[in-house]
Amino acid sequence: MRIAVLSDIHSNLVALDAVLAHLGSVDAIWQLGDVVGYGPDPDGVVARLAEVGAVGVRGNHDAAAVGGSEIEWFNPDARTAIEWTRSRISATTRAWLEGLPERLVETDYTLVHGSPREPLWEYITSSPVARANLTFVTTRFALHGHTHLPIVWAEEDGRIVSIAPGDGSTFTLDGRALLNPGSVGQPRDGIPESSCMVIDSDRDLVTWHRVPYDIEAVQAAMRDAGLPTRLVERLSYGV
Ligand code: ZN
Repeated sequence: MRIAVLSDIHSNLVALDAVLAHLGSVDAIWQLGDVVGYGPDPDGVVARLAEVGAVGVRGNHDAAAVGGSEIEWFNPDARTAIEWTRSRISATTRAWLEGLPERLVETDYTLVHGSPREPLWEYITSSPVARANLTFVTTRFALHGHTHLPIVWAEEDGRIVSIAPGDGSTFTLDGRALLNPGSVGQPRDGIPESSCMVIDSDRDLVTWHRVPYDIEAVQAAMRDAGLPTRLVERLSYGV
């Protein structure tokens, strides 16, 4: 089975469609939260994910978009974008977002947004945090997003090693590991192209992909919507 793993799409339909076209036919699509927030097309992204039968979990932006108190923790730009999202999403989008669980287990994988032990909020950015989460999680692998950075945290001979994958990088699924596909809609590793991951379950192999999309079209839509300038500009730099 070929499984596409997408995270942090953030209302960027142009990027999502570029990624889906690039990956072609897949057997399943798993999404790791932050479907909305920041970008200009929350209804379009949710409609597309529903259309392709994506399953997945909620992120902190999704929770805030449907009225959650998570908004209190957002920086001013993120908050402005979520208030815009709240005022704009359809009842269908809202119901779809409200239906997302915080955790989802699919065979050997636990799907979460932030981390297995703190699904909405924890950033896995260090070996001790990765180790604590590998101890916590009951499946062999966990898939997470939230940092917008593609990375693997793997257990090797009792040590935690991290690997930063680029376009075309692969990782063999043995032992136990936490895997982050990077962000579709707002990459933050200095590369503006969308980041995503494909699991080939027959070969126990994961491959990362970087996919260019029409950044200027998304930026024009964000300006038209009156979304914050800093959110518009960061897409050009992947930060
Ligand atoms: Zn995010």
